[in-house]
Amino acid sequence: MIRLNDIDRYFDSKFQRTFVLKGINLQVEEGEFVSIMGPSGSGKSTLLNIIGLLDAPSAGSLFFYDAPVNELKEKKKVEYHRNFMGFIFQAYHLIEEMTVYENIETPLIYKGVKGKERKAMVADLLDRFNMVAKKDLFPAQLSGGQQQLVGIARAIVGKPRLLLADEPTGNLHSSQGEMIMEVLRELNEQGMTIIQVTHNEKFAHYGSRLVRLEDGLVREDRQLVAAE
Ligand code: ADP
Ligand code: MG
Repeated sequence: MIRLNDIDRYFDSKFQRTFVLKGINLQVEEGEFVSIMGPSGSGKSTLLNIIGLLDAPSAGSLFFYDAPVNELKEKKKVEYHRNFMGFIFQAYHLIEEMTVYENIETPLIYKGVKGKERKAMVADLLDRFNMVAKKDLFPAQLSGGQQQLVGIARAIVGKPRLLLADEPTGNLHSSQGEMIMEVLRELNEQGMTIIQVTHNEKFAHYGSRLVRLEDGLVREDRQLVAAE
């Protein structure tokens, strides 16, 4: 489904070039649930942003289903974002002028889901995430954890084929985190491919594969046995 060939990402300043990713080779098959771990600053978000077409590699190639996606036109990128993937941001990135309800509904509008079905899909997630009472509030009126839940709901509501999640439980209590992991597991069982970044060993084991980054290199890449 996804292939990275010798991906480098570096940043140039006046006097030096800083490598964040150094020749990453990674292949993810449809249906996998990959957990990416690694110390702070090891390049996890950069890697996820490149796969999510939010950042471009400095060198190397990225493929979706064997089609090169390095140099896509903006319009084609938007299509991938709307129809193929969901992204859970580390810093939420909710739309401040929209209510909780509207934030979650937006991807469905772009996808062309009809009103009644849309309502049911949003209501279902609000209910699951215990956010029904908050549906008409704006992001600024929510706690960090609540904003994170809205960001997760927005990313999964349209059932994307690929879900990219950057520390989705970073600001949640452990019971809420576990609830989210159960949701991700269920979506994965229904066929959604998931790549999550996490600092939580236990949550990493909801995945079927662990990739450990260190200094911009893949230090470990192994299958996991199912967690119970
Ligand atoms: P992680 O998510 O693993 O904590 P990141 O991928 O966010 O790490 O960042 C890896 C490194 O790349 C960090 O040292 C960060 O400062 C650097 N970095 C990320 N984005 C930029 C940028 N736009 N310009 C310069 N350095 C950057
Ligand atoms: Mg990060």
